[in-house]
Amino acid sequence: NFATRVHIKGKNEIAELGKVFNSMSAKLENLDQQRSEFVSNASHELKTPLASIKILTESLLYQDNIPENVYKEFLGDINQEIDRLTNLINDLLLMTKIENDKEKMDRQQVSIDLLLKKAVVALKPLADQKDIELSFTWNQNTVITCDPMRIRQAVNNLIDNAVKYTPAGGRVDVGLEVHGEEVAIVVKDTGEGISKEDQAHIFDRFYRVDKARSRETGGTGLGLYIVQCIALLHEGRVEVESEKGQGSTFRLFLPIAGPSAGQDMGAKEEK
Ligand code: ADP
Repeated sequence: NFATRVHIKGKNEIAELGKVFNSMSAKLENLDQQRSEFVSNASHELKTPLASIKILTESLLYQDNIPENVYKEFLGDINQEIDRLTNLINDLLLMTKIENDKEKMDRQQVSIDLLLKKAVVALKPLADQKDIELSFTWNQNTVITCDPMRIRQAVNNLIDNAVKYTPAGGRVDVGLEVHGEEVAIVVKDTGEGISKEDQAHIFDRFYRVDKARSRETGGTGLGLYIVQCIALLHEGRVEVESEKGQGSTFRLFLPIAGPSAGQDMGAKEEK
């Protein structure tokens, strides 16, 4: 927040002004550093699948008499890398949209139970495919003020992760808790769990516990960052409770009354 006012009346105030300027310039420097770090991470993420595509196409181009099954396998790998690039670009676009459209929140009265039910129904085929039992426990009809498209996106990301990081035969349970003035959307899985050290970083952009694994499943490392941006836009928060090998529970807390109208619903200021 750069809107600090200093009233200059004497030497002390000049010293104070100096302090304010220093703190402002430190903040700007920090922002600058974050920006270049982000560009460098994003470029790296984009270059990795491109490098694979390059190697695969060159092998096909410069080798003669490739057996058909090998040919098909390489084409399949190229296709997968293209999907990965598409996912990444979609997530990057979504991320900038969420970060930049802070004022354009679509505030609506939403039945959150119904929204959750729809999200679960839509993701059921994905869970079935992996032999995971995806369930939703209906509580009561709870109406909250929120941006339904954005909350749906956040819920999708949480359920999608729960399904992705839970082995076949496991369970994912979606529910809703009411805690006084706020609700918590709960996504609980019986998956691989997350260590305490990793829990401190999973909401950072591009952080993945197991990069190779996440790539395999089409992960971009942006899913939870997007969930956190959406939570903060709503003046809510997202929390995780987990232990390695013991499954994970994510809770997305949202104020029932919605974010306060008209105020800058800024995303988290990163350290
Ligand atoms: P990704 O696209 O890799 O899934 P996310 O930002 O959604 O990126 O998640 C960051 C990392 O957090 C993941 O790579 C994964 O290691 C871990 N993670 C997220 N959700 C879960 C979960 N339900 N169970 C175990 N690990 C998870």
